[in-house]
Amino acid sequence: MEKLENLDKIVNLCKGRGFIFQGSEIYGGMGNTWDYGPVGVELKNNIKKAWWKKFVQQSENSFGVDAAILMNSRVWDASGHTASFSDPKMDCRNCKTRHRADNLIEDYNKKHDIEMAVDAMSKEEMQNYIVEHQIKCPNCGKCDFTEIKNFNLMFSTKRGVTDDSQDVIYLRPETAQGEFVNFLNVQRTTRAKVPFGIAQIGKAFRNEITPGNFIFRTIEFEQMEHQFFCKEDDGEKFYKEFKQKAWDFAKSVGLNPEHLRFKDHDKLAHYAKAACDIQYLFPMGWSELNGIHNRSAWDLSRHQEYSGKNMQYLDPITNERYIPNVIEYSIGCDRLVLAVLCEAYDEEQLEDGETRIVMHFVPHIAPYKVAVLPLQKNLSEKAKEVYKDLQKNFMATYDEAGSIGKRYRRQDEIGTPFCVTIDFDTIENNTVTVRDRDTMKQDRVKIDDLEKYLIDNIK
Ligand code: ATP
Repeated sequence: MEKLENLDKIVNLCKGRGFIFQGSEIYGGMGNTWDYGPVGVELKNNIKKAWWKKFVQQSENSFGVDAAILMNSRVWDASGHTASFSDPKMDCRNCKTRHRADNLIEDYNKKHDIEMAVDAMSKEEMQNYIVEHQIKCPNCGKCDFTEIKNFNLMFSTKRGVTDDSQDVIYLRPETAQGEFVNFLNVQRTTRAKVPFGIAQIGKAFRNEITPGNFIFRTIEFEQMEHQFFCKEDDGEKFYKEFKQKAWDFAKSVGLNPEHLRFKDHDKLAHYAKAACDIQYLFPMGWSELNGIHNRSAWDLSRHQEYSGKNMQYLDPITNERYIPNVIEYSIGCDRLVLAVLCEAYDEEQLEDGETRIVMHFVPHIAPYKVAVLPLQKNLSEKAKEVYKDLQKNFMATYDEAGSIGKRYRRQDEIGTPFCVTIDFDTIENNTVTVRDRDTMKQDRVKIDDLEKYLIDNIK
Protein backbone atom coordinates (compact mmCIF):
# COMPACT_ATOMS: atom_id res chain seq x y z
CA MET A 1 0.00 0.00 0.00
CA GLU A 2 2.93 2.30 0.69
CA LYS A 3 3.61 2.26 -3.05
CA LEU A 4 0.52 4.23 -3.85
CA GLU A 5 1.37 7.76 -4.79
CA ASN A 6 -0.61 10.78 -5.52
CA LEU A 7 -2.19 10.64 -8.97
CA ASP A 8 -1.11 14.23 -9.67
CA LYS A 9 2.56 13.28 -9.48
CA ILE A 10 1.99 10.60 -12.08
CA VAL A 11 0.03 12.95 -14.34
CA ASN A 12 2.86 15.49 -14.13
CA LEU A 13 5.54 12.93 -14.88
CA CYS A 14 3.51 11.66 -17.84
CA LYS A 15 3.23 15.16 -19.26
CA GLY A 16 6.85 16.10 -18.54
CA ARG A 17 8.46 12.95 -19.86
CA GLY A 18 6.28 12.23 -22.89
CA PHE A 19 4.03 9.43 -21.70
CA ILE A 20 0.63 11.12 -22.00
CA PHE A 21 -0.51 14.63 -22.95
CA GLN A 22 -3.89 16.36 -22.70
CA GLY A 23 -5.80 15.82 -25.98
CA SER A 24 -5.89 18.89 -28.32
CA GLU A 25 -3.77 20.71 -25.76
CA ILE A 26 -2.86 23.77 -27.88
CA TYR A 27 -6.61 24.53 -28.19
CA GLY A 28 -7.08 24.44 -24.45
CA GLY A 29 -7.70 20.72 -24.45
CA MET A 30 -10.76 18.56 -25.03
CA GLY A 31 -12.20 17.19 -21.82
CA ASN A 32 -11.17 13.66 -20.95
CA THR A 33 -9.26 12.91 -24.10
CA TRP A 34 -5.59 12.03 -23.82
CA ASP A 35 -2.81 11.60 -26.36
CA TYR A 36 -0.02 9.12 -25.84
CA GLY A 37 3.43 10.64 -26.44
CA PRO A 38 6.64 9.01 -27.70
CA VAL A 39 7.28 7.08 -24.48
CA GLY A 40 3.63 6.35 -23.68
CA VAL A 41 2.88 4.81 -27.05
CA GLU A 42 5.78 2.38 -26.59
CA LEU A 43 4.53 1.41 -23.13
CA LYS A 44 0.98 0.93 -24.37
CA ASN A 45 2.08 -1.05 -27.44
CA ASN A 46 4.24 -3.31 -25.26
CA ILE A 47 1.26 -3.99 -23.00
CA LYS A 48 -0.91 -4.81 -26.01
CA LYS A 49 1.82 -7.09 -27.39
CA ALA A 50 2.13 -8.89 -24.04
CA TRP A 51 -1.66 -9.38 -23.94
CA TRP A 52 -1.79 -10.69 -27.51
CA LYS A 53 1.12 -13.02 -26.82
CA LYS A 54 -0.63 -14.57 -23.82
CA PHE A 55 -4.16 -14.73 -25.20
CA VAL A 56 -3.52 -15.45 -28.89
CA GLN A 57 0.06 -16.46 -29.66
CA GLN A 58 0.52 -18.77 -26.69
CA SER A 59 -2.98 -20.15 -26.74
CA GLU A 60 -3.57 -23.15 -28.94
CA ASN A 61 -7.22 -22.38 -29.57
CA SER A 62 -7.61 -18.60 -29.78
CA PHE A 63 -7.69 -16.42 -32.85
CA GLY A 64 -7.54 -12.68 -33.38
CA VAL A 65 -9.83 -10.33 -35.29
CA ASP A 66 -9.83 -6.59 -35.97
CA ALA A 67 -13.45 -5.65 -36.58
CA ALA A 68 -14.90 -2.32 -37.74
CA ILE A 69 -15.77 0.31 -35.14
CA LEU A 70 -18.97 1.17 -37.01
CA MET A 71 -21.41 -1.71 -37.09
CA ASN A 72 -24.91 -2.31 -38.40
CA SER A 73 -27.27 -0.68 -35.87
CA ARG A 74 -29.16 -3.95 -35.47
CA VAL A 75 -26.07 -5.27 -33.66
CA TRP A 76 -26.79 -2.85 -30.82
CA ASP A 77 -30.46 -3.83 -30.74
CA ALA A 78 -29.43 -7.48 -30.43
CA SER A 79 -26.80 -6.80 -27.77
CA GLY A 80 -29.26 -4.77 -25.71
CA HIS A 81 -27.19 -1.57 -25.88
CA THR A 82 -29.85 0.49 -27.66
CA ALA A 83 -32.42 -0.28 -24.99
CA SER A 84 -30.38 -0.36 -21.85
CA PHE A 85 -26.74 0.67 -22.06
CA SER A 86 -27.26 3.48 -19.65
CA ASP A 87 -26.00 4.88 -16.38
CA PRO A 88 -28.05 6.56 -13.62
CA LYS A 89 -27.47 10.28 -14.09
CA MET A 90 -28.51 13.18 -11.91
CA ASP A 91 -27.92 16.90 -12.28
CA CYS A 92 -26.89 19.29 -9.54
CA ARG A 93 -29.63 21.94 -9.38
CA ASN A 94 -27.19 24.46 -7.96
CA CYS A 95 -24.19 24.34 -10.36
CA LYS A 96 -25.85 22.39 -13.22
CA THR A 97 -23.12 19.76 -13.41
CA ARG A 98 -24.05 16.18 -14.28
CA HIS A 99 -23.13 13.16 -12.17
CA ARG A 100 -23.45 9.40 -12.01
CA ALA A 101 -25.42 8.49 -8.92
CA ASP A 102 -23.61 5.17 -8.38
CA ASN A 103 -20.21 6.90 -8.64
CA LEU A 104 -21.22 9.58 -6.12
CA ILE A 105 -22.16 6.82 -3.67
CA GLU A 106 -19.02 4.78 -4.39
CA ASP A 107 -16.76 7.81 -3.84
CA TYR A 108 -18.58 8.66 -0.62
CA ASN A 109 -18.30 5.05 0.61
CA LYS A 110 -14.59 4.87 -0.24
CA LYS A 111 -13.96 8.02 1.80
CA HIS A 112 -15.92 6.62 4.75
CA ASP A 113 -14.62 3.04 4.49
CA ILE A 114 -18.08 1.65 3.78
CA GLU A 115 -18.18 -1.64 1.83
CA MET A 116 -21.49 -1.87 -0.01
CA ALA A 117 -23.00 -3.45 -3.11
CA VAL A 118 -23.75 -0.25 -5.03
CA ASP A 119 -24.27 -2.11 -8.32
CA ALA A 120 -27.20 -3.97 -6.75
CA MET A 121 -29.08 -0.77 -5.77
CA SER A 122 -32.23 0.35 -7.52
CA LYS A 123 -32.67 3.97 -8.68
CA GLU A 124 -34.90 4.69 -5.67
CA GLU A 125 -32.41 3.18 -3.24
CA MET A 126 -29.61 5.30 -4.67
CA GLN A 127 -31.72 8.45 -4.53
CA ASN A 128 -32.62 7.81 -0.89
CA TYR A 129 -29.05 6.95 0.08
CA ILE A 130 -27.76 10.22 -1.39
CA VAL A 131 -30.32 12.28 0.50
CA GLU A 132 -29.94 10.30 3.74
CA HIS A 133 -26.14 10.69 3.77
CA GLN A 134 -26.28 14.22 2.38
CA ILE A 135 -23.77 13.27 -0.33
CA LYS A 136 -22.49 16.50 -1.86
CA CYS A 137 -21.94 17.62 -5.42
CA PRO A 138 -18.17 17.24 -6.03
CA ASN A 139 -18.24 20.54 -7.94
CA CYS A 140 -20.11 22.95 -5.64
CA GLY A 141 -20.56 21.05 -2.37
CA LYS A 142 -24.39 21.31 -2.28
CA CYS A 143 -26.70 18.32 -1.93
CA ASP A 144 -29.50 19.35 -4.28
CA PHE A 145 -29.86 16.88 -7.13
CA THR A 146 -32.59 16.21 -9.69
CA GLU A 147 -34.22 12.80 -9.86
CA ILE A 148 -32.12 9.96 -11.24
CA LYS A 149 -32.71 9.28 -14.95
CA ASN A 150 -31.18 6.70 -17.27
CA PHE A 151 -28.65 8.16 -19.69
CA ASN A 152 -27.60 6.11 -22.75
CA LEU A 153 -23.83 6.06 -23.11
CA MET A 154 -23.54 5.32 -26.81
CA PHE A 155 -22.14 8.03 -29.06
CA SER A 156 -24.30 8.31 -32.15
CA THR A 157 -23.47 9.79 -35.50
CA LYS A 158 -25.15 9.86 -38.90
CA ARG A 159 -24.34 8.11 -42.12
CA GLY A 160 -25.44 8.97 -45.64
CA VAL A 161 -24.80 11.73 -48.17
CA THR A 162 -28.17 13.44 -48.17
CA ASP A 163 -29.99 14.74 -45.17
CA ASP A 164 -33.12 12.66 -45.64
CA SER A 165 -31.26 9.39 -46.11
CA GLN A 166 -29.38 9.73 -42.89
CA ASP A 167 -29.32 6.75 -40.61
CA VAL A 168 -28.20 6.90 -37.03
CA ILE A 169 -25.20 4.72 -36.37
CA TYR A 170 -23.12 4.28 -33.23
CA LEU A 171 -19.46 4.30 -32.32
CA ARG A 172 -19.07 0.90 -30.68
CA PRO A 173 -19.23 1.10 -26.88
CA GLU A 174 -17.37 -2.22 -26.57
CA THR A 175 -15.33 -4.38 -28.91
CA ALA A 176 -17.05 -7.64 -27.91
CA GLN A 177 -19.74 -7.52 -30.60
CA GLY A 178 -17.02 -7.66 -33.28
CA GLU A 179 -16.05 -11.06 -31.92
CA PHE A 180 -19.64 -12.32 -31.66
CA VAL A 181 -20.69 -11.32 -35.18
CA ASN A 182 -17.59 -13.05 -36.58
CA PHE A 183 -18.11 -16.29 -34.65
CA LEU A 184 -19.17 -18.22 -37.77
CA ASN A 185 -16.47 -16.65 -39.99
CA VAL A 186 -13.67 -17.47 -37.59
CA GLN A 187 -14.93 -20.99 -36.93
CA ARG A 188 -15.29 -21.70 -40.66
CA THR A 189 -11.93 -20.28 -41.75
CA THR A 190 -9.84 -21.73 -38.91
CA ARG A 191 -11.82 -24.99 -38.70
CA ALA A 192 -11.68 -24.45 -34.93
CA LYS A 193 -13.53 -26.84 -32.70
CA VAL A 194 -15.44 -25.63 -29.67
CA PRO A 195 -14.00 -24.76 -27.19
CA PHE A 196 -12.11 -21.90 -28.84
CA GLY A 197 -11.65 -18.18 -28.35
CA ILE A 198 -11.69 -14.94 -30.35
CA ALA A 199 -9.59 -12.00 -29.23
CA GLN A 200 -9.59 -8.38 -30.25
CA ILE A 201 -7.86 -5.15 -29.28
CA GLY A 202 -9.56 -1.97 -30.38
CA LYS A 203 -11.11 1.38 -29.63
CA ALA A 204 -14.42 1.78 -27.85
CA PHE A 205 -16.37 4.95 -27.08
CA ARG A 206 -18.70 5.84 -24.22
CA ASN A 207 -20.35 9.14 -23.49
CA GLU A 208 -19.45 8.79 -19.81
CA ILE A 209 -21.35 11.06 -17.42
CA THR A 210 -18.44 11.44 -15.04
CA PRO A 211 -15.19 10.62 -16.76
CA GLY A 212 -12.03 11.33 -14.82
CA ASN A 213 -9.08 10.18 -12.76
CA PHE A 214 -6.75 10.76 -15.70
CA ILE A 215 -6.98 7.81 -18.12
CA PHE A 216 -9.03 5.65 -15.73
CA ARG A 217 -12.37 6.57 -17.24
CA THR A 218 -12.39 8.35 -20.60
CA ILE A 219 -14.84 8.76 -23.43
CA GLU A 220 -12.53 7.09 -25.97
CA PHE A 221 -10.46 4.11 -24.85
CA GLU A 222 -9.00 0.86 -25.98
CA GLN A 223 -10.25 -2.54 -24.88
CA MET A 224 -8.56 -5.92 -24.99
CA GLU A 225 -11.31 -8.52 -25.07
CA HIS A 226 -11.34 -12.27 -25.33
CA GLN A 227 -14.53 -14.27 -25.88
CA PHE A 228 -14.24 -17.98 -25.26
CA PHE A 229 -16.91 -20.22 -26.80
CA CYS A 230 -17.64 -23.48 -24.98
CA LYS A 231 -20.31 -26.03 -24.10
CA GLU A 232 -22.68 -25.03 -21.35
CA ASP A 233 -21.40 -27.77 -19.03
CA ASP A 234 -17.82 -26.51 -19.36
CA GLY A 235 -18.72 -22.89 -18.54
CA GLU A 236 -17.79 -23.06 -14.89
CA LYS A 237 -14.45 -24.71 -15.58
CA PHE A 238 -13.42 -22.13 -18.18
CA TYR A 239 -14.72 -19.24 -16.07
CA LYS A 240 -12.28 -20.32 -13.34
CA GLU A 241 -9.51 -20.80 -15.89
CA PHE A 242 -9.94 -17.27 -17.26
CA LYS A 243 -10.02 -15.77 -13.79
CA GLN A 244 -6.61 -17.34 -13.21
CA LYS A 245 -5.30 -16.28 -16.64
CA ALA A 246 -6.45 -12.70 -16.12
CA TRP A 247 -4.77 -12.64 -12.69
CA ASP A 248 -1.52 -14.09 -14.08
CA PHE A 249 -1.51 -11.56 -16.89
CA ALA A 250 -1.94 -8.63 -14.49
CA LYS A 251 1.04 -9.92 -12.49
CA SER A 252 3.12 -10.45 -15.63
CA VAL A 253 2.98 -6.75 -16.52
CA GLY A 254 4.29 -5.88 -13.08
CA LEU A 255 1.22 -5.42 -10.87
CA ASN A 256 1.86 -6.43 -7.28
CA PRO A 257 -0.69 -9.13 -6.24
CA GLU A 258 -1.13 -7.27 -2.94
CA HIS A 259 -2.69 -4.48 -4.99
CA LEU A 260 -5.06 -6.85 -6.81
CA ARG A 261 -8.23 -8.56 -5.64
CA PHE A 262 -11.23 -10.37 -7.09
CA LYS A 263 -14.64 -8.86 -6.54
CA ASP A 264 -17.74 -10.87 -7.41
CA HIS A 265 -20.59 -8.86 -8.92
CA ASP A 266 -23.39 -8.40 -6.42
CA LYS A 267 -26.01 -8.18 -9.12
CA LEU A 268 -25.87 -10.42 -12.18
CA ALA A 269 -27.35 -9.52 -15.56
CA HIS A 270 -30.39 -11.73 -16.18
CA TYR A 271 -28.48 -13.91 -18.65
CA ALA A 272 -25.20 -14.14 -16.70
CA LYS A 273 -24.24 -17.22 -14.72
CA ALA A 274 -21.26 -15.67 -12.95
CA ALA A 275 -19.38 -12.38 -13.08
CA CYS A 276 -16.47 -10.82 -11.27
CA ASP A 277 -13.95 -8.04 -11.63
CA ILE A 278 -10.32 -7.86 -10.81
CA GLN A 279 -9.83 -4.64 -8.91
CA TYR A 280 -6.56 -2.75 -8.55
CA LEU A 281 -5.66 -0.50 -5.66
CA PHE A 282 -5.44 2.76 -7.64
CA PRO A 283 -4.45 5.98 -5.83
CA MET A 284 -8.19 6.76 -5.56
CA GLY A 285 -8.96 3.35 -3.99
CA TRP A 286 -9.92 -0.14 -5.14
CA SER A 287 -11.44 0.12 -8.61
CA GLU A 288 -12.28 -2.19 -11.50
CA LEU A 289 -9.41 -3.15 -13.74
CA ASN A 290 -11.11 -5.85 -15.76
CA GLY A 291 -14.17 -8.07 -15.86
CA ILE A 292 -14.64 -11.82 -16.32
CA HIS A 293 -18.13 -13.02 -17.12
CA ASN A 294 -19.92 -16.26 -17.84
CA ARG A 295 -22.50 -14.92 -20.30
CA SER A 296 -24.32 -18.21 -21.06
CA ALA A 297 -25.56 -18.59 -24.66
CA TRP A 298 -27.13 -15.13 -24.58
CA ASP A 299 -24.92 -13.27 -27.05
CA LEU A 300 -24.99 -15.75 -29.91
CA SER A 301 -28.69 -16.53 -29.29
CA ARG A 302 -29.56 -12.85 -29.59
CA HIS A 303 -27.56 -12.49 -32.81
CA GLN A 304 -29.33 -15.55 -34.18
CA GLU A 305 -32.69 -13.98 -33.29
CA TYR A 306 -31.89 -10.52 -34.72
CA SER A 307 -29.88 -11.50 -37.82
CA GLY A 308 -31.87 -14.59 -38.75
CA LYS A 309 -28.57 -16.42 -39.23
CA ASN A 310 -28.16 -19.84 -37.64
CA MET A 311 -25.42 -19.40 -35.01
CA GLN A 312 -25.35 -23.05 -33.96
CA TYR A 313 -22.19 -25.06 -33.84
CA LEU A 314 -22.22 -28.61 -35.19
CA ASP A 315 -20.05 -30.89 -33.10
CA PRO A 316 -18.22 -33.05 -35.68
CA ILE A 317 -17.89 -36.00 -33.29
CA THR A 318 -21.27 -36.17 -31.57
CA ASN A 319 -23.26 -34.46 -34.36
CA GLU A 320 -24.89 -32.38 -31.65
CA ARG A 321 -26.00 -28.85 -32.65
CA TYR A 322 -25.94 -26.10 -30.06
CA ILE A 323 -25.32 -22.42 -29.46
CA PRO A 324 -22.06 -22.12 -27.51
CA ASN A 325 -21.82 -20.36 -24.16
CA VAL A 326 -19.40 -17.46 -23.79
CA ILE A 327 -16.78 -16.74 -21.15
CA GLU A 328 -15.75 -13.11 -21.58
CA TYR A 329 -12.58 -11.47 -20.33
CA SER A 330 -12.45 -7.75 -20.93
CA ILE A 331 -9.80 -5.26 -19.86
CA GLY A 332 -9.33 -1.59 -20.65
CA CYS A 333 -5.84 -1.12 -22.05
CA ASP A 334 -5.61 2.51 -20.89
CA ARG A 335 -6.81 1.55 -17.43
CA LEU A 336 -4.11 -1.09 -17.30
CA VAL A 337 -1.53 1.48 -18.45
CA LEU A 338 -2.61 3.64 -15.49
CA ALA A 339 -2.27 0.72 -13.06
CA VAL A 340 1.17 -0.09 -14.47
CA LEU A 341 2.25 3.57 -14.13
CA CYS A 342 1.00 3.72 -10.52
CA GLU A 343 2.74 0.46 -9.65
CA ALA A 344 6.04 1.43 -11.29
CA TYR A 345 6.29 4.94 -9.80
CA ASP A 346 8.82 5.32 -7.03
CA GLU A 347 10.68 8.12 -5.29
CA GLU A 348 13.92 6.86 -3.85
CA GLN A 349 16.04 8.64 -1.29
CA LEU A 350 19.69 8.36 -2.37
CA GLU A 351 22.73 8.36 -0.11
CA ASP A 352 23.82 11.81 -1.33
CA GLY A 353 20.50 13.21 -0.10
CA GLU A 354 18.98 13.51 -3.59
CA THR A 355 15.66 11.97 -4.52
CA ARG A 356 15.42 9.98 -7.71
CA ILE A 357 12.14 9.31 -9.44
CA VAL A 358 12.26 5.90 -11.05
CA MET A 359 9.70 3.89 -12.97
CA HIS A 360 10.26 0.22 -12.13
CA PHE A 361 8.54 -1.23 -15.22
CA VAL A 362 9.14 -4.92 -15.80
CA PRO A 363 11.74 -4.79 -18.61
CA HIS A 364 9.58 -6.42 -21.30
CA ILE A 365 7.02 -3.58 -21.16
CA ALA A 366 9.47 -0.70 -20.60
CA PRO A 367 9.23 1.88 -23.41
CA TYR A 368 12.95 1.81 -24.18
CA LYS A 369 14.99 -1.26 -23.32
CA VAL A 370 18.34 0.46 -23.46
CA ALA A 371 19.89 3.93 -23.60
CA VAL A 372 23.33 4.58 -25.05
CA LEU A 373 25.27 7.36 -23.34
CA PRO A 374 28.79 8.50 -24.29
CA LEU A 375 30.66 9.64 -21.18
CA GLN A 376 31.94 12.63 -23.11
CA LYS A 377 30.98 14.18 -26.44
CA ASN A 378 34.25 13.11 -28.08
CA LEU A 379 33.15 9.50 -27.62
CA SER A 380 29.98 10.00 -29.60
CA GLU A 381 31.20 8.38 -32.80
CA LYS A 382 31.79 5.04 -31.08
CA ALA A 383 28.57 5.48 -29.05
CA LYS A 384 26.49 6.04 -32.17
CA GLU A 385 27.96 2.89 -33.70
CA VAL A 386 26.82 0.88 -30.66
CA TYR A 387 23.42 2.63 -30.67
CA LYS A 388 22.80 1.88 -34.37
CA ASP A 389 23.65 -1.75 -33.80
CA LEU A 390 21.33 -2.08 -30.81
CA GLN A 391 18.48 -0.35 -32.66
CA LYS A 392 18.24 -3.32 -35.02
CA ASN A 393 16.81 -5.49 -32.27
CA PHE A 394 15.84 -3.22 -29.38
CA MET A 395 13.89 -0.05 -28.81
CA ALA A 396 16.93 2.04 -27.93
CA THR A 397 17.53 5.72 -27.23
CA TYR A 398 20.61 7.91 -27.32
CA ASP A 399 21.53 10.85 -25.11
CA GLU A 400 24.71 12.90 -24.97
CA ALA A 401 23.36 16.10 -23.38
CA GLY A 402 24.28 17.02 -19.79
CA SER A 403 26.15 15.26 -17.02
CA ILE A 404 26.04 11.47 -16.93
CA GLY A 405 24.17 11.62 -13.60
CA LYS A 406 21.41 13.78 -15.14
CA ARG A 407 21.17 11.45 -18.10
CA TYR A 408 20.77 8.43 -15.81
CA ARG A 409 17.96 10.27 -13.98
CA ARG A 410 16.17 11.01 -17.25
CA GLN A 411 16.27 7.31 -18.16
CA ASP A 412 15.12 6.34 -14.65
CA GLU A 413 12.09 8.59 -15.06
CA ILE A 414 11.00 6.83 -18.24
CA GLY A 415 11.89 3.42 -16.82
CA THR A 416 14.71 2.40 -19.19
CA PRO A 417 16.05 -0.79 -17.57
CA PHE A 418 19.61 -0.56 -18.95
CA CYS A 419 22.00 2.29 -19.68
CA VAL A 420 25.07 1.50 -21.76
CA THR A 421 27.91 3.94 -21.15
CA ILE A 422 30.72 4.38 -23.63
CA ASP A 423 33.91 5.51 -21.88
CA PHE A 424 37.63 5.68 -22.66
CA ASP A 425 38.11 1.97 -21.92
CA THR A 426 35.61 1.26 -24.69
CA ILE A 427 38.07 2.61 -27.25
CA GLU A 428 40.89 0.58 -25.66
CA ASN A 429 39.23 -2.79 -25.21
CA ASN A 430 35.78 -2.74 -26.83
CA THR A 431 33.86 -3.03 -23.55
CA VAL A 432 31.06 -0.86 -22.14
CA THR A 433 29.41 -0.48 -18.77
CA VAL A 434 25.79 -1.55 -18.40
CA ARG A 435 23.93 0.13 -15.54
CA ASP A 436 20.91 -1.58 -14.05
CA ARG A 437 18.02 0.86 -13.42
CA ASP A 438 16.83 -0.73 -10.19
CA THR A 439 20.09 -1.59 -8.42
CA MET A 440 22.15 1.17 -10.12
CA LYS A 441 24.99 -1.38 -10.23
CA GLN A 442 27.23 -1.50 -13.29
CA ASP A 443 28.61 -4.48 -15.20
CA ARG A 444 31.48 -4.32 -17.64
CA VAL A 445 30.40 -6.13 -20.81
CA LYS A 446 32.13 -6.79 -24.13
CA ILE A 447 30.37 -5.05 -27.02
CA ASP A 448 30.23 -8.40 -28.79
CA ASP A 449 28.27 -9.86 -25.84
CA LEU A 450 25.98 -6.85 -25.34
CA GLU A 451 23.02 -8.13 -27.31
CA LYS A 452 23.02 -11.46 -25.50
CA TYR A 453 23.40 -9.68 -22.16
CA LEU A 454 20.30 -7.60 -22.86
CA ILE A 455 18.25 -10.53 -24.18
CA ASP A 456 19.09 -12.53 -21.06
CA ASN A 457 18.03 -9.69 -18.79
CA ILE A 458 14.88 -8.44 -20.53
CA LYS A 459 12.19 -10.69 -19.12
P1 ATP B 1 -17.10 0.86 -15.10
O1 ATP B 1 -18.02 0.23 -14.09
O2 ATP B 1 -15.74 1.22 -14.54
O3 ATP B 1 -17.72 1.96 -15.90
P2 ATP B 1 -17.85 -1.28 -16.81
O4 ATP B 1 -18.18 -2.34 -15.82
O5 ATP B 1 -18.91 -0.52 -17.49
O6 ATP B 1 -16.77 -0.26 -16.17
P3 ATP B 1 -17.15 -3.03 -18.93
O7 ATP B 1 -18.28 -2.66 -19.78
O8 ATP B 1 -17.14 -4.38 -18.26
O9 ATP B 1 -16.86 -1.89 -17.86
O10 ATP B 1 -15.81 -2.84 -19.79
C1 ATP B 1 -14.69 -3.70 -19.69
C2 ATP B 1 -13.44 -2.95 -19.30
O11 ATP B 1 -13.24 -1.83 -20.15
C3 ATP B 1 -13.46 -2.37 -17.89
O12 ATP B 1 -13.09 -3.35 -16.95
C4 ATP B 1 -12.45 -1.26 -17.99
O13 ATP B 1 -11.13 -1.75 -17.82
C5 ATP B 1 -12.61 -0.78 -19.42
N1 ATP B 1 -13.45 0.44 -19.49
C6 ATP B 1 -14.80 0.51 -19.47
N2 ATP B 1 -15.22 1.79 -19.58
C7 ATP B 1 -14.09 2.54 -19.67
C8 ATP B 1 -13.86 3.94 -19.81
N3 ATP B 1 -14.86 4.80 -19.90
N4 ATP B 1 -12.58 4.37 -19.87
C9 ATP B 1 -11.55 3.50 -19.80
N5 ATP B 1 -11.72 2.16 -19.68
C10 ATP B 1 -12.96 1.69 -19.61
